[in-house]
Amino acid sequence: MADTQDMNTLDNAAFRSMLRSWIEANYPPEIRSPAKRLHLRDNWPWYKALSEKGWLCPSWPREHGGMGLSAEKQVIMTEEFERHGCARLNDHGATMLGPLLIRYGTPSQQQHFLPKIISGEHIWCQGYSEPGAGSDLASLRTKADRDGDEWVVNGQKIWTTMANDANWIFLLVRTASTARKQDGISFLLVPMDSPGVTVRPILNLEMHDEFCEVFFDNVRVPIDNLVGEINKGWSMAKALLGFERIFIGSPRLSDYAFSRLLELGRLYKLEDDRAFQERASQLFLDLENHKTLFAEYLDLISRGKQLGPDVSLLKINQSELFRRITEYMLELTGEMGGVIEGLGHDGALNASAQFLQARAATIYAGSSEIQRNIISKTVLNLPS
Ligand SMILES: Cc1cc2nc3c(=O)[nH]c(=O)nc-3n(C[C@H](O)[C@H](O)[C@H](O)COP(=O)(O)OP(=O)(O)OC[C@H]3O[C@@H](n4cnc5c(N)ncnc54)[C@H](O)[C@@H]3O)c2cc1C
Repeated sequence: MADTQDMNTLDNAAFRSMLRSWIEANYPPEIRSPAKRLHLRDNWPWYKALSEKGWLCPSWPREHGGMGLSAEKQVIMTEEFERHGCARLNDHGATMLGPLLIRYGTPSQQQHFLPKIISGEHIWCQGYSEPGAGSDLASLRTKADRDGDEWVVNGQKIWTTMANDANWIFLLVRTASTARKQDGISFLLVPMDSPGVTVRPILNLEMHDEFCEVFFDNVRVPIDNLVGEINKGWSMAKALLGFERIFIGSPRLSDYAFSRLLELGRLYKLEDDRAFQERASQLFLDLENHKTLFAEYLDLISRGKQLGPDVSLLKINQSELFRRITEYMLELTGEMGGVIEGLGHDGALNASAQFLQARAATIYAGSSEIQRNIISKTVLNLPS
């Protein structure tokens, strides 16, 4: 039964304690603190539990089935999920497509798609990157040609996270050849079970099939599946990257890695070691700083403000802090850092898995170099 109470009316301590007891009572113990990103078959009970409770989409407005939660409370929620070691869900619908449809979708697209994200009937993946169009995304070549009441899609996407779990994909497609390559791009919603869609998983350095290649061979989609105006998808694509950078800028990953670092300190009996105390304290202060920055951005969103290009700062700050924490974990574990099963009684102290995930975080959703380019050009107005 969905919780209809407005959580913003609770004081922070009461909200935190209510969350903590609910998570402890409802989180599946067998998937606590997973070393790798889980597939849908494993995280589904948690998806379902959050969905039924009405807690899957904290930032969405309440009229669309979200919690309409204040920035401060969203940070508390993140902290409590991390404290308990809750797994990341297949969340492209909740964190990216949902906010995009709420801003740019037609009422009928909102009514059709948003409830299906919440119920988990639709599991989404993100089809942006292509071979030859990663950082330079506007060079994408997957095209959609109009044929009567349908779009016909041909091309290839790559690095599509959890495409092997998803039954829908949101795509950037070329719908016109224009002099300025950003101009002929549109935003299209495609069911993965359409004839002509092929998904091929790719193994990452952890030998985990977390992302895929997706091929489109004369895939037919109704014209109504286009979001926003034709050929104007670039501004929406950027808005969605803004939502993504907010989500990825969340202290979640660093928070979790920091809790693992402290656990490592306990395992190696370093609590009284001055060198460990100094490094851990510095990282803790950096993490606290980052939480403050994150709350400021969330606050802007909850007050209905548009995010500027400076949101790149959040992504850089989070992913590079995550990287610093995990580099220290690897330094402490030495050669044991390479043990694939991890250390500790439950194998949850996996320094190399954390390290590799942190490396990936400085690449996906736009690499650190690209974020710095954005800041130098559009925030600081430096010459190219
Ligand atoms: C774990 C993971 C999950 C991902 N999931 C998805 C997903 O679900 N959907 C999706 O669409 N994509 C996804 N991606 C793709 C991701 O967005 C791209 O990898 C990223 O944008 C970089 O593109 P690229 O890999 O083509 O590298 P390239 O663009 O070829 O860049 C290679 C290197 O050159 C640097 N570089 C490139 N251009 C410049 C420049 N102008 N100035 C300075 N340096 C530059 C980059 O910083 C990088 O270090 C994922 C990637 C990873 C690692």
